[in-house]
Amino acid sequence: MTRTFDALILGGGAAGLLCAAEAGKRGRRVAVLELADRIGKKILISGGGRCNFTNIHCRPENFISANEHFAKSALARYTPSDFIALVEKHRIPYHEKTLGQLFCDRSAQDITNLLEAECRDAGVQIFLNAKIQEVQHTTEFAARTGLDEFRAPVLVVATGGLSIPKIGATSLGYDLARQFGLKIVNTRPALVPLVLAKKDQRLYRDLAGVSASVAVSTDQQSFRESMLFTHRGLSGPAILQISSYWEKGKPLRIDLAPDRDVTSSIRESSGRNLAAARAAFLGVLPKRFAERWLDLHVPRSWTNQDLEKLERQVHEWTVRPADTEGYEKAEVTAGGVNTDELSSKTMESRKVRGLFFIGEVVDVTGHLGGFNFQWAWASGAAAGRAL
Ligand SMILES: Cc1cc2nc3c(=O)[nH]c(=O)nc-3n(C[C@H](O)[C@H](O)[C@H](O)COP(=O)(O)OP(=O)(O)OC[C@H]3O[C@@H](n4cnc5c(N)ncnc54)[C@H](O)[C@@H]3O)c2cc1C
Repeated sequence: MTRTFDALILGGGAAGLLCAAEAGKRGRRVAVLELADRIGKKILISGGGRCNFTNIHCRPENFISANEHFAKSALARYTPSDFIALVEKHRIPYHEKTLGQLFCDRSAQDITNLLEAECRDAGVQIFLNAKIQEVQHTTEFAARTGLDEFRAPVLVVATGGLSIPKIGATSLGYDLARQFGLKIVNTRPALVPLVLAKKDQRLYRDLAGVSASVAVSTDQQSFRESMLFTHRGLSGPAILQISSYWEKGKPLRIDLAPDRDVTSSIRESSGRNLAAARAAFLGVLPKRFAERWLDLHVPRSWTNQDLEKLERQVHEWTVRPADTEGYEKAEVTAGGVNTDELSSKTMESRKVRGLFFIGEVVDVTGHLGGFNFQWAWASGAAAGRAL
């Protein structure tokens, strides 16, 4: 059966549904084609099930892209306040957790319900279990799903990234970009736990579950948040954030006691010894981690020079991760459709008229804290208003 619309949106996730609602409100006949048996599966598992749907301190600096200016226009035209207004219109209770991060009080389902209601009110038709087998383009776009064909002059690709394949992530968006001759910035797992080298795993594995407040840095970026030991390596907000900047083979520098002087109390104590050092470290790190770290970094002597070295090591613990935990555990995919290929106002391809890319499939990746949804809403709105 062939069905005809004004616009086809591939992917019923955050960006696709917001885009569909915006276009539907403007009188466009819109079809959303979603692979899964329900919309917004990733929204449902987001933010620990409570969906960190935006961040009130959203700034362009919270996004990573080969073109740092690309996201600015869309982000300025659909702000956190715009999405908060939608949340309030639907009477969804929410709260600020920390650092401007807004979460649902009840569950992430409130957000999928909101998007479904907005689409329904705008007359959008949502087709579930719609696995796209091929897309052709002549005078218009034709997307085939098994026996059905959907046709429209406009195609919006909102199929998301590669992370969490077990809930239906596919490479369709990148495949389509290549099919239509658009360049891709290499993709990689981001906001992802890191795996330590085998030697370090043996040293720290039994600390799994221990967390500490640290500042972790690459040459470009630094994040001051908590770090968590896992069975295979490191996680927690500080590590997830820096993982988006980390390059394989490069070290991470971890300041275990930001803004604090750990060894001064050892220097001042009458008995400069291991017991004094332990007491000093227990003041800044959780017990098991303090003891392990000190055991592995006991100074040769307690001279001022060696204590200075110890102080430096505390602030520059250098760790060389072996890898990331990969797309299985990554919150997002960095890289994607090269933004040089797209209009920053509408997300339309510069090469193929009527072809749009929005959300995570585009080379714009947010920091942890609600920024990835804000990009999904903003890019979705930018395209939806242009259809
Ligand atoms: C565990 C986890 C927690 C997260 N928590 C947060 C958070 O709290 N805050 C935040 O800002 N971000 C969070 N994120 C990131 C956020 O979920 C994504 O960045 C966001 O969902 C991207 O929106 P999108 O619409 O581009 O893609 P998605 O929401 O992934 O939607 C893409 C849709 O396309 C469909 N699709 C894929 N392939 C096909 C195909 N071949 N045919 C048809 N349909 C297809 C998928 O089934 C999916 O429904 C989290 C991610 C994960 C994995």
